[in-house]
Amino acid sequence: MPRTNRYQNDAEARERVRDAIQHLPTAWVICRDLRHAWTVSEDFHVSMVRPDGSPGEAKRTLLCARCGSRRQEVYTVSIRWGLTKETQWYEYTEGYQLKGVPRGVKPAEILRQEQYRRALGEMGVEWAPPEPPAEEAASQVSEDRA
Ligand SMILES: [Zn+2]
Repeated sequence: MPRTNRYQNDAEARERVRDAIQHLPTAWVICRDLRHAWTVSEDFHVSMVRPDGSPGEAKRTLLCARCGSRRQEVYTVSIRWGLTKETQWYEYTEGYQLKGVPRGVKPAEILRQEQYRRALGEMGVEWAPPEPPAEEAASQVSEDRA
């Protein structure tokens, strides 16, 4: 049975992620790098008010000005403690999420390289990110043999 070369698999995973990111709109690439540009879409809305002072619930909806994704936040409300965030969840714009990004593949570097590539492209300069250093490849291979 042939051994799996982990470095080779990581390199393939990186290339899959890089390829997916190259096809995203620039605004989405910026959101992935800098995080979302949240604006308040629906300000705090208290859905329950209890006269005995026990916690009620408040919700807030945020909207990303760049990519259109939404963040829903739910808080408990009490007279004594004010707002305490209980949960939040995201509703991403269709196509925003990258499916199947494996562990260990950190797109941050890929995202910055992609923005750099696009910036150079606007100046008419073609640029491709460098291959990983050879010593990194060699150390990965020796780990596989251990
Ligand atoms: Zn966004």
